[in-house]
Amino acid sequence: MTVTASAARESAVVEAVPKGLWIGGDSDAAGRGVIAVEDPSTGETLAEVADASVEDGRDALSAAVAAQEAWAATAPRERGEILRRAFEAMTARANDLALLMTLEMGKPLAESRGEVAYAAEFFRWFSEEAVRIAGQWSTSPDGKTRLMTMKRPVGPTLMITPWNFPLAMGTRKIGPAVAAGCTMVVKPASQTPLSMYALASIMREAGLPDGVLNVITTSSSGAVMEPLIRDPRLRKLTFTGSTAIGKRLVEQSAEQLLRVSMELGGNAPFLVMADADLDAAVDGAMAAKMRNMGEACTAANRFLVHESVAADFSSRLTERMAALHVGRGTEDGVDVGPLIDEVSRDKVAELVQGAVAGGARVLTGAKSVGTRGWFFAPTVLADVPPDADLLVEEIFGPVAPVTTFATLDEAIDGANDTEYGLVAYAFTRDLTTALALSERLDTGMVGINQGIVSNPAAPFGGVKHSGFGREGGREGIEEYLETRYVGIRPA
Ligand code: NAP
Repeated sequence: MTVTASAARESAVVEAVPKGLWIGGDSDAAGRGVIAVEDPSTGETLAEVADASVEDGRDALSAAVAAQEAWAATAPRERGEILRRAFEAMTARANDLALLMTLEMGKPLAESRGEVAYAAEFFRWFSEEAVRIAGQWSTSPDGKTRLMTMKRPVGPTLMITPWNFPLAMGTRKIGPAVAAGCTMVVKPASQTPLSMYALASIMREAGLPDGVLNVITTSSSGAVMEPLIRDPRLRKLTFTGSTAIGKRLVEQSAEQLLRVSMELGGNAPFLVMADADLDAAVDGAMAAKMRNMGEACTAANRFLVHESVAADFSSRLTERMAALHVGRGTEDGVDVGPLIDEVSRDKVAELVQGAVAGGARVLTGAKSVGTRGWFFAPTVLADVPPDADLLVEEIFGPVAPVTTFATLDEAIDGANDTEYGLVAYAFTRDLTTALALSERLDTGMVGINQGIVSNPAAPFGGVKHSGFGREGGREGIEEYLETRYVGIRPA
């Protein structure tokens, strides 16, 4: 059998990644077995990584605890320089990191390159924040006392990340933790561990001392994570993933009263007002819906379009969605890769079937594609009944359900009618409408005339069942810092 150049490169990129547990100075701990990592475009095994036991998890936390004091005492400039070097290494190796991500997660190469750049930017941003950590100095109102506040790292942190953005969901947490002086145990999703192990290598090369970053992968996330969350040595838990698991982890974290950040699910409304620039709205809709094949917490989940422009908007969106090329993410010209696994693909199909059974009209798609891998066709549905499950749940797939509204109040009430509150998008040319939407939409983030809000310089996060805490921006580092107040009374 001849091996093509691209197949050889794919193997080489996978081969180069360390696959053992990364605990303290040991970057090749064996664990109790292996976890198979699947290529979702073929369903075939791509690699095997170590499977951590409960003991391995405890060892990783012990390594983080042992490294904490010295790491907190490291000069801020040194911590920042490590992040800066890691940013540069990620940028220099963007093509390999992107290929690795596409292989384990499925998104097209261009999107993986975009994620590598986005992920690296968190390191650049927080390399700059590391040297700007500051307290305050003031005089008490009665003039008798001086009030000094100083910032200290929270301490050893457990980071649990999802499969949909295998690098960026890590760097968004690791960047501020490194900048603040926290040590950490990272548990990436078992479906996409390779990107995180590749990142751990880069961090070591960039000069991160052993024990500051520990990475473990496990097939028993619940059993291995719970003892760590309940361990009195842990001080913070940060989780990105589903709302159901997030709630469970918040309960567990109550035992040690951990500092907690939760980046959970979404059900983003995408509003198109009567006066919107429809070309811009369709461009925005494509970005908000199709980034990551719709497998994003920020994905537009419900399209609410003014009744006067709904037909026009839907037909333009349908034309764009129908023209997308579905295929393996490594191939040229592919716009839409596979969904992460069979269960996810079947869930998307079921949500679509439910809506259609309730009266929704299929404008394009609504079917699985191919006989291998987990592909689903880009789909637009019109006349979606208000009680359809796909308007209530996260679709996490390339499906755009369109509904209509008549007034601004109706649009806002409809947009807010969800337990989630991560992000909302709105397209309008009217400043007053834009202001009303910015103020009345019940979400942590609002995109006005834009379909992507993610930006390392901005605070990312949600309200309601989308969680709490912010990642990125000036706020991002605060999640990893405690404020200590010292009262000084002059003699
Ligand atoms: P998930 O099933 O909740 O898994 C997320 C992470 O939690 C994975 O590492 C998973 O490990 C781990 N996990 C699963 N069960 C656990 C348990 N009992 N105890 C501790 N850890 C556990 O979510 P997902 O399907 O990977 O990711 C998709 C979800 O993430 C969506 O809801 C999406 O909206 C959300 N998300 C939110 C944001 C945001 O910033 N708000 C960003 C991206 C994604 P395994 O590998 O074992 O499953």
